Amino acid sequence: MIRIICAVLLYSSLCFSQQTDEVDFLELNAEVEIDTLNRQVKGSVQVRFNALQNIDSVYLDAVDMSIEPLKDSPYKIVEKEDKVWITSNFKKGKTYIAEFSYECQPKQTVYFVGFESNLKQYPSQVWTQGQGKYTSHWLPSLDDMNDKLIFNITYLAPKNYEVIANGKLSRTRSRLDHKSWSYEMKHPMSSYLVAFAMGNFRGTTYKSDKGTPLQLYLETRHADKASFTYKHHEEIFNFLESKINVDYPWQNFKQVPVRDFLYAGMENTTLNIFSDSFVVDSIGGNDKSFVNVQAHELAHQWFGNLVTETSSRHHWLHEGFATFYALEVEREIFGEDYYYFKIFKSAEELKSLSDKGKGQVLVKTGGSSLTYYEKGAWALIILRDIVGQEVFQQAVKNYLTTHAYKNVTTDSFMDEVESVYGQNLTNFKERWLYQKAFQSKQTLGFLKKNEFIQDYMKLAAFRETRLNFKSERLDEALDFPVNEYLGQEAVYQLSNEDMTLALPIYKKALSTNNLFVRQAVASSLTRVPKALKTEFETLLDDDSYTTIEKSLLHLWMSFPEDRSLYLDKVKDVIGFQDKNVRLLWLTLNLATPDYEPKQKANTFQKLSGHTQPRYPYQIRQHAFGYLYQINTFTQKNYKNLMKGVFHPVWQFKKFCRELLDTLMKDDKHRENIEKLAKGFTIQEKTFFNNRY
Ligand SMILES: [Zn+2]
Repeated sequence: MIRIICAVLLYSSLCFSQQTDEVDFLELNAEVEIDTLNRQVKGSVQVRFNALQNIDSVYLDAVDMSIEPLKDSPYKIVEKEDKVWITSNFKKGKTYIAEFSYECQPKQTVYFVGFESNLKQYPSQVWTQGQGKYTSHWLPSLDDMNDKLIFNITYLAPKNYEVIANGKLSRTRSRLDHKSWSYEMKHPMSSYLVAFAMGNFRGTTYKSDKGTPLQLYLETRHADKASFTYKHHEEIFNFLESKINVDYPWQNFKQVPVRDFLYAGMENTTLNIFSDSFVVDSIGGNDKSFVNVQAHELAHQWFGNLVTETSSRHHWLHEGFATFYALEVEREIFGEDYYYFKIFKSAEELKSLSDKGKGQVLVKTGGSSLTYYEKGAWALIILRDIVGQEVFQQAVKNYLTTHAYKNVTTDSFMDEVESVYGQNLTNFKERWLYQKAFQSKQTLGFLKKNEFIQDYMKLAAFRETRLNFKSERLDEALDFPVNEYLGQEAVYQLSNEDMTLALPIYKKALSTNNLFVRQAVASSLTRVPKALKTEFETLLDDDSYTTIEKSLLHLWMSFPEDRSLYLDKVKDVIGFQDKNVRLLWLTLNLATPDYEPKQKANTFQKLSGHTQPRYPYQIRQHAFGYLYQINTFTQKNYKNLMKGVFHPVWQFKKFCRELLDTLMKDDKHRENIEKLAKGFTIQEKTFFNNRY
């Protein structure tokens, strides 16, 4: 399962003065140069706006920028308090054009990745993340999402990159060692959806059923992974467009994976930038499905990009809808059981939180992802169940077409539903939109209509029962043809049970040949009994990097006499993009003294070297974790850890800070780290002295 973490908007339009009452920005044309050497962004902007009142000044947000008006500018244009102020005597109803140039060194929103080394494996990239991070850090624009503009941007970058951005690529030009890419939009959008990604990318174009160009990008080194990574992409697009029943509202749809991305994916208009952890080969594709993230971000092109919340109070109109429609896509591709299992799990999570008194109102500022995404999706599932598929679909269509390219509130949607339904939905609104408690009774009633869920719940009800009273049930759950969810549940219930009774059931689970049932055995059985050794060893041959990783570890722990055999077998397996198998292999190699004894120093170097900033954060995190387990850190490792403490990916930053806290509690590590303090940068010193 993949948890999608799109940026949650931390701001509300209330934080800003209501400039939208005084001016309507219409179009922004810009030429933007990406200076990779100085990590700067500079450019020129031409902005067209309509004065809605007689006013003397309008502004664009522009954080830490130096601004230069054109020489013969008819307006006074100055930078003040993170805004570009354009001052003159603007008359109500008239349209104006202002031009200026700017320069900045963005502290966030634009990320320069891989420039600290020239590792061939990890070519440098520059990409943006505007939601929750403000596009105004690199492009003068509007932090308020209630004013939508048409953005036409030409990007200038060194020739060896490919620049991918919003809209249609209308022209490219080469200028000496630089190249320019001109992208044009047809329709207006909120500024947080402006984005670009540049890197060593190559694209392939397909066409949807209705003729929309679908452009799939990958780094050239990953060219052979396109069909596995983007599996189902056409089906997703065509299915979603027909399910939503409103034509895709933009010129094209592009997808590009980037390294060290802050979230799973981001729905920039016409451009899904997503984490390269979803780039997979034929084996990785069995474990990591990109279907959910593809569908989720694509659904946002309607829900969020075409119709945009007026403020974060209505954020579920983005995330609830995107989650709901991604589930519909998964149901189409993976089937009913998959769908019901997933919504069952999400209901369980919401119920447990709600039972602890931590339920949240859906229509509210500052909700958790679980609320906006999962509770939002559930609200729509129940709503559709109440009004019926036909009414639901018509109401969604009316909602999208009435408010196209504009902003919406929860009422904008509910009014359309009530109008098509012909009755008010007060009870639904009270229970689902404005109540903290999760409506678990109603949810359960809905779920129980599904036969598979009934079977699953019957089996799950045995979790607390001792094995001798339920072994027949578990055995039955593994009958051919096995249902993978029931099969996995049966395996998990064997944990910590009497092995004599459990053994035949484990054997049966392994003989199902179902990848995920077998994976459940690999993951949950940490001490493998001798009687299961031969069967368990076959897990090392499964087409799953997760299964290989888990079974290698558990075999290594259970059978010390065969450690070399296992290490030999997995020697050449790398795993996912985060090298999960490879890094475990290096660690187990180091912990097996008689395996490749003469190469131990070299093996350690390999593991230890993966903590360097030039590697993706997921690899570094594994490497730090394993070094901690073997309790060996070099001076370089400490230095690399210190750099991780400031990483833009918050999960990794948190991991590094916590690891550093743990090491500082140990006398030996503390002494070593303190010795390095003299060489710290000012930023590192400040952090270190404040924390310890
Ligand atoms: Zn989302």
